[in-house]
Amino acid sequence: MNKNIFPHEHKVTRNDRSKLLGQRPIVIWFTGLSGSGKSTIAGALEEELSKRGFKTYLLDGDMLRTGLNKDLGFSDSERTENIRRTGEVCRLLHDAGLAVLAAFISPFRKDRQLVRELFGANEFIEIFVNAPLEVCMDRDPKGLYRKSKDGQVSSMTGIESAYETPLNPEIELRTDQDSVVDSVGKIIGKILPLMRA
Ligand code: ADP
Repeated sequence: MNKNIFPHEHKVTRNDRSKLLGQRPIVIWFTGLSGSGKSTIAGALEEELSKRGFKTYLLDGDMLRTGLNKDLGFSDSERTENIRRTGEVCRLLHDAGLAVLAAFISPFRKDRQLVRELFGANEFIEIFVNAPLEVCMDRDPKGLYRKSKDGQVSSMTGIESAYETPLNPEIELRTDQDSVVDSVGKIIGKILPLMRA
């Protein structure tokens, strides 16, 4: 850290905020190919958590890439920087006391590991949203696979750019086999005990 930077010890702590909100903060990180179902499941999970009175915030790639990260493209190093900044945003929202749902392709293991290291045990839950590439290409919710085939999009993850599957995710979903409702149920079962204040 720069020797001229002195983090201030503010009076209201994360613990105080957590008590006021009546929940323990958590980061739920969705990784997987484009079209695997990250946004769909994160959105459905957020609805379910909100219904149960938890305070949430959902972040996705397009949100950050139109604002904070709009200077970044899709080279390997820019993808790494995209995830590094996203991890820092998650850290702030987590410190604020929220349940943070982050839906990012985040193709590289080392980048996801660096985000994980920002948090303590049971504060970061990695969810591998898994569906075969052919299924994702068939769904093609944003038309990106088609554009990639036509040469209008380059560096598409799973085509020209690598996707490194998680080796040890807390949860793996198979969205070509399980319904959205089943996937949300699986996540809820794991995280609710961790979120109760
Ligand atoms: P991503 O955020 O990973 O790019 P999206 O959630 O935007 O993916 O798109 C996934 C698409 O697949 C949506 O159109 C969704 O309706 C569809 N889909 C079909 N079955 C499932 C399932 N079981 N789980 C999640 N998404 C599914």
